[in-house]
Amino acid sequence: MPIRIGVFGYGTIGKRIADAILKFSDEFELVGVLKPTPDYEADIAVRKGLKVYTYPERVNDFEKAGIPVAGTVDELLERIDLAIDATPAKVGKEMKVKYYQPRGRPAVFQGGEKADVADVSFSALANYESARGVRYVRVVSCNTTGICRLLSALKLHGLKIRRARIFLVRRGADPKEHKRGPINDIVPDPVTVPSHHGPDVKTVIPDIDIVTMAVAVPVTIMHMHLVNIELEETVTRQDVIRILEETPRIMLVPEGRRMDSLAQLIEWARDVGRYRGDIMENCIFEGSLTVYDGREIYLMMGIHQESIVIPENIDAVRAMFNLADKWTSIERTDKGLGLITSGKRYGL
Ligand code: NAD
Repeated sequence: MPIRIGVFGYGTIGKRIADAILKFSDEFELVGVLKPTPDYEADIAVRKGLKVYTYPERVNDFEKAGIPVAGTVDELLERIDLAIDATPAKVGKEMKVKYYQPRGRPAVFQGGEKADVADVSFSALANYESARGVRYVRVVSCNTTGICRLLSALKLHGLKIRRARIFLVRRGADPKEHKRGPINDIVPDPVTVPSHHGPDVKTVIPDIDIVTMAVAVPVTIMHMHLVNIELEETVTRQDVIRILEETPRIMLVPEGRRMDSLAQLIEWARDVGRYRGDIMENCIFEGSLTVYDGREIYLMMGIHQESIVIPENIDAVRAMFNLADKWTSIERTDKGLGLITSGKRYGL
């Protein structure tokens, strides 16, 4: 019997999770999505054939807007084995207390929640096994997911990390967010050091020495991370390239193809037919990869904030329901979602 899943919140992340669930119909059934407002995203969900649920006091609004409702939030909760929460940051905690916990439903949360919303903060390459059989799991944020994958790649290949110092150039808003900025500024985000990303990485990889700083810029397409990692032992640049090539969900953007920017990466994703132009892999610019004195790695890495956490949401469900071991799950997810797996450079 497939695991019956409800997606609570159908925005940037929720709609992508819903689409991903549909790709694994032998394992998961998407029972429906919860939307509080009869907006264009709710309309698209219905047009895609999804069942849309809402709060009892909102049913009339949906009827007036001509968007059919499959039931109320309580009915959705009755029909599922698991809730995937993709409501806005901090709302997930309220949903847990008001709905998931009283109804005895396990739940996956997103990175906008604090770590204490769940028993485990999750990033598949780093700690898949720790989510096995667990009731509440938080898939960490887009930036934290990207950092965890990179650090895990090195650790899984036996390298000891002395310290990581990462500078994040964050997109100011998602493409659909017409009221957010900045539009002509570079904003310390936050001005304090460390930014929350370093401590957040530690919720997944506790033993790491990491400091992060962040600014927000007038861009919507992706984040860029400027990374400096110091190792205990010496490596060559070629060693690091091999490690990154061998790691799932990491894509090396090659030199010499004139793919020299985040805009070109998004254009590549659209040209090769990635749905919505999504790039769920870490995009590491090979030309930026430099090793000083054998121990210090420098690189630049693009992170597509709207989609990078989707594979981890699928893995989290498999781990919680003990459906597969780590590497089987990662391979199955990546194949199902059409990701670049190990050993390839941008899919050519
Ligand atoms: P979003 O605003 O695009 O979508 C939120 C959805 O939840 C909308 O459909 C909205 O209608 C719905 N919603 C609002 N209040 C609700 C409620 N009380 N009950 C049910 N649904 C409700 O937000 P998002 O960007 O998809 O973010 C969702 C979560 O994912 C947050 O925790 C966020 O921090 C995290 N996240 C976002 C990104 C990103 O870049 N957008 C990346 C990684 C993680």
